[in-house]
Amino acid sequence: RWAYVDGVFVPFASAAVPLEDRGLEFSESLYEVVAVINGKPFRLADHVERMLQGARELGLQEGVPPLARWQHVVADLWARERFDSAILYAQLTGGTAAREHLPGQRKKPLFFAYLRPFTFPAPSLIAQGIAAVTVPEMRWQRRDIKTTMLLPAVLAKQQARQKGAQEAIFVGQDGYVNEGASSNVCVVRSGVVASPPPGERLLEGVTLKAVSELCAELGLPFHRRWVSLSDLKGADEVFIASTTTLIMPVVRLDGQLVGGGKPGPITLRLAYHFQKLFTGEQTA
Ligand code: PMP
Repeated sequence: RWAYVDGVFVPFASAAVPLEDRGLEFSESLYEVVAVINGKPFRLADHVERMLQGARELGLQEGVPPLARWQHVVADLWARERFDSAILYAQLTGGTAAREHLPGQRKKPLFFAYLRPFTFPAPSLIAQGIAAVTVPEMRWQRRDIKTTMLLPAVLAKQQARQKGAQEAIFVGQDGYVNEGASSNVCVVRSGVVASPPPGERLLEGVTLKAVSELCAELGLPFHRRWVSLSDLKGADEVFIASTTTLIMPVVRLDGQLVGGGKPGPITLRLAYHFQKLFTGEQTA
């Protein structure tokens, strides 16, 4: 296996990050996970743009490779490994500096990436759906930035697993739903698809953007609006969307059935069309 670290390809096993890397010591770090099907990255340009936005917030924008470089990196890694189905994991950190919150000298960001074989949910799993639980929001206030500060998400996923569920959905103190621990959340009511509004409360998903485009193509109304906990629990259909889960129906929520415990027709329609997009779409 291979990795791309700081501009060069190195064997995966010998690739390393220094102890004083600011990603490791301060979580001064951003990441992206991109689906790569038969060597073709899905919506790469959206992922690069999102990392660039986060990097501007952290003052690391110079460390984000341009889109063409990402394309080369994916193509080169794929030529070496040829996984049918994989994710590209990419991370940008503040780089190495003597350990100080704000180091004096200008630091050089570190960028690394590698492919990992990954099996996306098969249509037979999407036809079953998953269980989710709701958890109080306990992450920081700038969830629109895709940082690697993922401990709260890991804790929420642990809670979900303990309760026999696959995803945890964060609900704010005001009783409104934000997003899943590693996904965006959509509800369907009377044929209208809705997801909480963009802003600092949640991460804008690349997959969610594809969902909104599919809705437009299929003539389904798609709204960004606040979704309360009771709104979520009483929805006709609920689904999550992310790079790795694709469009996945939620059929059980905090132990109660959603939409009779079966994936709903609109969710399945979107999932079907998403699958086509996913397996057919070219780079960027
Ligand atoms: N929200 C959070 C908190 C996430 O971690 C993710 C990504 N796994 C998403 C939403 C979905 O984003 P994307 O569709 O770009 O994977």
